[in-house]
Amino acid sequence: MTELLYQTDSYLKEFDATVTGVDTEARAVVLDQTAFYPGGGGQPNDTGQLRLGGEVYRVEKVKKQGVDVLHFLSGDAPLPGPGARVHGQIDWDNRYKLMRTHTALHVLCGTVFRDYGALVTGGNMEPLHGRMDFEFERLQGELVGEIEAAVNKEVEAGRDVRVKILPREQAFQIPDLIRTKINLLPEGIQEVRTVEIVGLDLQADGGTHVRNTSEIGKIKVVDYKSKGAINKRIYIEIRGE
Ligand SMILES: [Zn+2]
Repeated sequence: MTELLYQTDSYLKEFDATVTGVDTEARAVVLDQTAFYPGGGGQPNDTGQLRLGGEVYRVEKVKKQGVDVLHFLSGDAPLPGPGARVHGQIDWDNRYKLMRTHTALHVLCGTVFRDYGALVTGGNMEPLHGRMDFEFERLQGELVGEIEAAVNKEVEAGRDVRVKILPREQAFQIPDLIRTKINLLPEGIQEVRTVEIVGLDLQADGGTHVRNTSEIGKIKVVDYKSKGAINKRIYIEIRGE
């Protein structure tokens, strides 16, 4: 079982860990703990490196498998064995862009629900751009400017982003989480991680986010698309440092 360090500290860039499993065929190692995000919820997995003595392994892909996180290593150097102590480092530049983008999508989601009552059905992101799908029948071109202004107002408001890990029963009693389809969580999950943009948005979420909306930068709504009478897709880009 891999402890997910990014769940309680999304700003952790480096960490020490012990190898607990090796898949030689796949060139992957399992660690007892990791800061690498394994992908999910529309956020791509992290990349980076693992160091063992003088050997540097490039981590080209990371994937969750049950309660383990697999780190896939490139190259052909012999893999670290079980019990080896390694030092991990994530590609921070890329991850931080994803944290800003992911948080921006939550700002979009919270704002569109508050102002238009539209629910999110899905989303996806790359560093500094993303898209979100809504049940949003009355989305039209003229609303785009209005939405963009509203989301940037929330960014500038400097709202705090808070992460909590709650017992399942407690989380299921929060009305805001029910609207984001928390009821779809598999039954075996006993704890629910929640990400709250204070005063704007609350979701059950396993991803990494910035601490305050002011870190996001400027949100540009670059396009929207009709995916049918009700389903609409909004595309955003993040600008600025
Ligand atoms: Zn999210």
